[in-house]
Amino acid sequence: MINSFCPECHKIVPVRIENLYETLTVRGITVSAYHPVSICSICSAEFVTADQMDEGLANTYKVYREMTGVISPEKIIQLRNKYNASQKAFGIILGFGELTINTYEKGSIPSESHQKVLESAEDAEWFCKQFEKAKPKLGQTQIKRIEQAISGLTDSTITVASNNVYSLSNDLSCMVGEEETEYTGWVKPEIEKLFAMMVYILSHTENVYKMKLLKILFYADFYHYQETSHSISGWAYARLPYGPVPQDFETVLFEARRSGILCSEPDKEQMGEIFSIASDNTSILLHQLSDEEKASLETVCNKLGQLTASQLSNLTHEEDGWLTTAHAECISYAHALTLKGING
Ligand SMILES: [Zn+2]
Repeated sequence: MINSFCPECHKIVPVRIENLYETLTVRGITVSAYHPVSICSICSAEFVTADQMDEGLANTYKVYREMTGVISPEKIIQLRNKYNASQKAFGIILGFGELTINTYEKGSIPSESHQKVLESAEDAEWFCKQFEKAKPKLGQTQIKRIEQAISGLTDSTITVASNNVYSLSNDLSCMVGEEETEYTGWVKPEIEKLFAMMVYILSHTENVYKMKLLKILFYADFYHYQETSHSISGWAYARLPYGPVPQDFETVLFEARRSGILCSEPDKEQMGEIFSIASDNTSILLHQLSDEEKASLETVCNKLGQLTASQLSNLTHEEDGWLTTAHAECISYAHALTLKGING
């Protein structure tokens, strides 16, 4: 016997628990399941506590899920963990209310439209697109966590189709500025140009670690500006402690991986990730480059391709652009005129 408050006797009484087989209607479907009820040992009144109501409802939902194939709370948690997202972030990305995921994980039945969204979310590419759209509403920590989880997934799952080299998410265009300024080398920024440069560098250079790739991009854009008064990609480079790097480079690399352009794997000595082109199909991107631009890339790869990442880093620390620009500010292409790394 356990004790409960009897609403008839108005006091705590010993009660007996019975399981009644009851039928409820859930979303238009008739569902029968066991519902626990309390029977008062004094007056024999039958009543249901809040916990018993929850338990009965949970039993009903469980049967409903088995009947209709609705996604289970365990499956939702598993899905969310796959992307390493918090409940709040996951809800924002999927376009649900902030607390919705929490209630689903506790056993509420997702609405039909939410059920469809949750099914779509199993597809990493679909999820990535929603994630890109939701980014402005997410915190930096969440963005980093999810990006890491996704890059782990996409490295092994994305393959490049033979006649469709890659598809750029529409939302990426918003991070590319429209303006042609001294910081873009008086060229409109084009991420496809930047990708084409990466493909060129990766197919002409060995042992390309992340830092090496970023530094060679910097030298190629700045060297081309020195030669022609225009950059190749129109990309801005920020001054960071270890040298100049393309603006938003983490997003750029993430998108290049996601699009099946490049991939990376840890090297044998565990010194870091070595980058390579994801497939031969990416050579189509090289058509984006003019002969002049390819010539600049060739010069830079020949001159700097043999250097290690730290040698390249030291080299960039002697550049006027790095020495005279404040931390995290963009480096003016005007500094390309005194570029030392290529001519020295
Ligand atoms: Zn009673």
